[in-house]
Parts: sequence; C-alpha cells; structure tokens
Amino acid sequence: MLAIALSALAMTLIVGVRYLLTSGAFALVTSRVRPGLYDGLAPQMRREVMWSLTSAAIYGVPAGLVAWGWQNRGWTLIYTDVHAHPLWYLPVSVFAYLFAHDTWFYWNHRWLHRPGPFRRAHAVHHASRPPTAWAAMSFHPWEALTGAVVIPSLVFAIPIHVGALAVVLTVMTVMGVTNHMGWDAFPRWLVHGRSGAWLITASHHQRHHAEYRCNYGLYFRFWDRLCGTDKGLGSFGDTHISVGLPDRRDRSRID
Ligand SMILES: [Zn+2]
Ligand SMILES: [Zn+2]
Repeated sequence: MLAIALSALAMTLIVGVRYLLTSGAFALVTSRVRPGLYDGLAPQMRREVMWSLTSAAIYGVPAGLVAWGWQNRGWTLIYTDVHAHPLWYLPVSVFAYLFAHDTWFYWNHRWLHRPGPFRRAHAVHHASRPPTAWAAMSFHPWEALTGAVVIPSLVFAIPIHVGALAVVLTVMTVMGVTNHMGWDAFPRWLVHGRSGAWLITASHHQRHHAEYRCNYGLYFRFWDRLCGTDKGLGSFGDTHISVGLPDRRDRSRID
C-alpha cells in the first residue's frame, strides 16, 4: 500500500514538474515572439497554474497505480524489448494511442458541454479567455479525472513499447500547451496545408475557446469533421476582443 502511495506521489511530481517546465518554456518563448500577448492576464494565469497542479495530483494517482503494477505485478501490455513486436508496429502503436485518446476526448468533451457538466466542471477550463500556455491542464478535478484514466486504461488494451509510450506522453504534453498559447508555433504550410486539415493546432482550438460549440477534438479533426462540428481555423483576435483588449488583435494574428 505504501509502495503504491509512493508511486502515485512520484507520478504526481513528474506530471507537475513536466507541466511547469513545458508551460514555462512555451510561456517564455511567447514573451519573446509575441511580447505583451499575456499582459493583464496574471490573475487568470495564477488560476490556470493552480488548477493545473491540482490536475497533476489527480493524473498521478491512476498513473502511479498502473506504474507500480507494471513493475511489480507484470500488469499492462507495455513492453521493453523493441523486437517483441515488428518495428512497423512502433509508429502504428503511437498513432493508435493518439487516435484512441482523441476519440475519448472528443466525446467526453461534447458531453462536458451539456449544461450540467459544463456548469459543474468544464466552465473552469473555459474561464481562460483567452487561454495561455499555462492553461494546458487547467481543468476542474472532475474533468481532470476523465482525462487521467485514459492512458492508464489504454496500456491494458493496446501493446506499446515504453519508448513509444514516452513519445505519446510527449505529444500529449506539448500539444496541450501549444494549442492554448494564443499563437501557432507550427509553420504556416502545416497549419493551412493539407495536413492541417486533419491535425489540430492552436488556430483550431482557439476557435473552440472563442465559440464553445465547435472544434471539440484534441489531436485530429477526424471526429469534428465526421460529426459536422468542425468550423475551421479561428483567428487569435476573437478572444482578446471579448476581454476588451482589441489593441492586441494585430500583434497576435497568425503571421
Ligand atoms: Zn482548451
Ligand atoms: Zn470545451
């Protein structure tokens, strides 16, 4: 029992520090490439950090339990011998995890926008107007719980090499931050090109934060396009206007 608690604590620390380093790094880059973009948002950013660190504690519990079981009880389908499956399976497993996560996120996110769950939980995430790099894990604890169980469940269903799992967690962390930071770090050809038609970037998720009832996906636009909820890319001016800071509109545009 103590070992499980220590494993959960270790995972909480890892998730929390990973969040602080990643969001901190992108917030720093933002202050260089979009100076003044977060001006006047200090109280909001403090709340984003507070909710995100609470989420880190919630994410740490199922992750710690599963990590303990993996190490001590042989649980999970995580493998360490890279030849245990054909090499082509490595990228396939990464894609399978991202697609499964995206599917869960999309439908759960649509449910979170129903009046009751929105009021009780998801409103916390939408209090970020406009979101910043610190909003990556800014969720009410109920919502954090629905996100925390995804990867720890998938490792029982889909075999994955430990290195491929690290890639999945890195993509999850980086995209959580970049999709909220108020400008697109990806090159224009990717955001506006053919791959951008299927991949979610900051321009796409910004529109969700501005208009609420569209663009629910996490990594891919597949479900949004299939279900008619994809409204295309947003502009970074919208949410600034809504908080009364129209003067930043031009500076924060995609360029
Ligand atoms: Zn968001
Ligand atoms: Zn939402």
